[in-house]
Amino acid sequence: MHIIARRAAAGFGFPPLLISSVRTSKHTGCRGLPTMAERSQQPQLFNQPKIELHVHLDGAIRVETIFDVAKRRRIDLRVNSSEELKEKIILREPATLTGFLEKFNEYMHVIAGDREAIKRIAYEFIEDKAKEGVIYVEVRYSPHLLANSNVEPIPWNQNR
Ligand SMILES: [Zn+2]
Repeated sequence: MHIIARRAAAGFGFPPLLISSVRTSKHTGCRGLPTMAERSQQPQLFNQPKIELHVHLDGAIRVETIFDVAKRRRIDLRVNSSEELKEKIILREPATLTGFLEKFNEYMHVIAGDREAIKRIAYEFIEDKAKEGVIYVEVRYSPHLLANSNVEPIPWNQNR
């Protein structure tokens, strides 16, 4: 299931940049995407309107929001700040897909099943994309993973 969010391109004055098909250059080789250093040499390119065609909502949540919702719901994340939480869930080294996905276990139970939290992360996602200059984004999510504990199997080991 996809949420497709559109913002009017009017007013930007440039054709949008398709993030997943950034033109290759001699600096990028076969990878297609420039490195951060290469990006800094191309500020005009990254200041243009952008399009993102594949983003996972549950992987684009503000850490501060997770921490905030956990406080509201009195869920103990065993951290004292959003900075500590960030350190806990960021991968600093390349990992396996399993290792990557295990990070979701740290926080998805905070958001899952909470209508207010889900509305908030969706709103903030669009806000963040707008600030990044993204004028069109196709964001996806897994309804069963954002569900409450009344479904089988219960996602994220939530308590009934
Ligand atoms: Zn995907």
